[in-house]
Amino acid sequence: MRRVISGLLVLLMLIPLASCGGNTAPPADSGVTEEPEEPKAPEPYEILDPTVMPEGGVRDGITYAAYDGVVEHLFFHPVVAYPELAFDGDNQANGIDDYMVTVGEYNKILQSVYEKGYVLVDIGDVWSEIAGEDGQPRMVRNTLYLPEGKKPLILSFDDTNYYPYMLENGFAYKLILGDDGLIWSWGKDPQGNEVVSQDLDAIPILDKFVREHPEFSPFGAKGCLSLTGYEGILGYRTQTDTKSWTQAQEANRQKEREAVKPIIEELKRTGWTFGSHTWGHIRLGGSVSLAEIQADTERWADEVGTLVGPTTILFYPHGERPDGNDWQNTGPIFRYLQSQGFRVFCSVGIESFSYIKKDICAVICDRLHPDGTTLRGSDKVIGWYSQFYDARDIIDLEARPQREVRWTPKA
Ligand SMILES: [Zn+2]
Repeated sequence: MRRVISGLLVLLMLIPLASCGGNTAPPADSGVTEEPEEPKAPEPYEILDPTVMPEGGVRDGITYAAYDGVVEHLFFHPVVAYPELAFDGDNQANGIDDYMVTVGEYNKILQSVYEKGYVLVDIGDVWSEIAGEDGQPRMVRNTLYLPEGKKPLILSFDDTNYYPYMLENGFAYKLILGDDGLIWSWGKDPQGNEVVSQDLDAIPILDKFVREHPEFSPFGAKGCLSLTGYEGILGYRTQTDTKSWTQAQEANRQKEREAVKPIIEELKRTGWTFGSHTWGHIRLGGSVSLAEIQADTERWADEVGTLVGPTTILFYPHGERPDGNDWQNTGPIFRYLQSQGFRVFCSVGIESFSYIKKDICAVICDRLHPDGTTLRGSDKVIGWYSQFYDARDIIDLEARPQREVRWTPKA
């Protein structure tokens, strides 16, 4: 088993994940500074702890059972609202095809994992830090108490920053609060009309799905949003820029910081949590110096952490493991990041692998990536991730570029 996992890690380190919000575009002023409308008092939203067995083992007539098996973990990027903008043949089209799903595909994936008996849990509830027998802190895997027969699923969403390149390519522009107090997306359709919707972005879509299927989230969990900082967060341009910085830019930044606060508050209230994806989407494998990683980590804490609060979750940009290998080694970059409070370190893989490190208080884990790369499949009969769906039922080949698929067509 050791050798198999090690082989997988090596393989995965060779798969480039460069499109994961590639840090190529310079920070830009979005010009989008609408004030959210004053919301109404929202419906109460209950968040429960899956590590506590309900009294008597039953809640709301549902029997709960202990679960110590694999916790699956899927991650998405922002989803494509308008495929005609995303797949228009420009130089972003193939990257979006590789690393994103469309709204239609995302809806089908949610429906399929729901029908297959998965229920959402928050990544922060799966492991805990305890004091070991030697007095040293270490991570432990928690027993989860789930509705009998259900399987746990973590969702995370990378680069939910709404980068300027996304705005031109058929994604939502930002999250806003509707006058119902709920999260909506704001953006523009291909004709340039403003669109406020709960059907065009992964976050309000999941909120709506859970409202319609509350049993999909028995503890109220949604997903963990993996944020960079270099182009702001959630569509708000909260970042600084070291090149030139005027008072007017700073005033706008402060306005954007104020505008995003109620969005963050509502997301937290309704089961969303936040993790770091580094400020600059930087490489942690060793090509970036420790000093630069320290500066980046401080900048994230300053510009993002001050808005979303502290986090113990780190999502590696490009899936790149600290010091080149976070499994057999615990190198200086990993030790530094752990010293800054990170405990759960997430890469990208082909199985929901996790490993509690023995020499330091940390857990490393891999996430699966439903996207064009995996939906187009392998030589497996129905593509990758068959525990969640049949890729042939999910992929929208009419919307996507005409590129190869490698599964066997349905008879
Ligand atoms: Zn990324």
